[in-house]
Amino acid sequence: MEALMPISYLNDFIFCPYSLYLHQVFDNNTEDVYSAAPQQVGKANHAVIDAKETERIPIPKILKGIYVLSQKLGIYGKIDTLYVSEKKLVESKFSISTIYQGYYYQLWAQYFALIEMGFEVNTLSFFSIKDRKTYPVDIPTQKEFLALRAHIKTIARFDFEQTIKTNAAKCSHCIYAALCDKTEMDHVYA
Ligand code: SF4
Repeated sequence: MEALMPISYLNDFIFCPYSLYLHQVFDNNTEDVYSAAPQQVGKANHAVIDAKETERIPIPKILKGIYVLSQKLGIYGKIDTLYVSEKKLVESKFSISTIYQGYYYQLWAQYFALIEMGFEVNTLSFFSIKDRKTYPVDIPTQKEFLALRAHIKTIARFDFEQTIKTNAAKCSHCIYAALCDKTEMDHVYA
């Protein structure tokens, strides 16, 4: 199987490309995640296919935190919640004040992966847990698919040795700040 990119990278890269590099260097579980994820996707995929074929195993009404994978895009990751019979995919975040482009990339990637795996999805939304607000999102089209694929290629080809522009506001909220050689700043979680 070709290398697959975690869906979380789509947003993290926009936050700061260097955080992806630090994630790979310092996260000892990366190998496990890489090897385990496709297997778990395979299991989830087979469970759905088997259920459809036999009609004996009911598909759960709500799927939470399952792995999804798109071979077309070369990405994998977890979804938040899929309401199967309502064909509704929801991505919850603790607090949403702005919907960043990276959020859209993540949700589009989840959507395209689910479709590729044989699920039906007719409704997409973000949910802000703190204030219980729902933000509906249009179903992505071919235009969004191409934009997403271009973003994935940009990440895959990124030269992490190039000069990184730091942003104090971002660094202060980055979990890698204490380990990062691009800033002397510590993060607010220290
Ligand atoms: S500390 Fe700043 S420069 Fe370093 S990875 Fe985080 S956001 Fe990027």
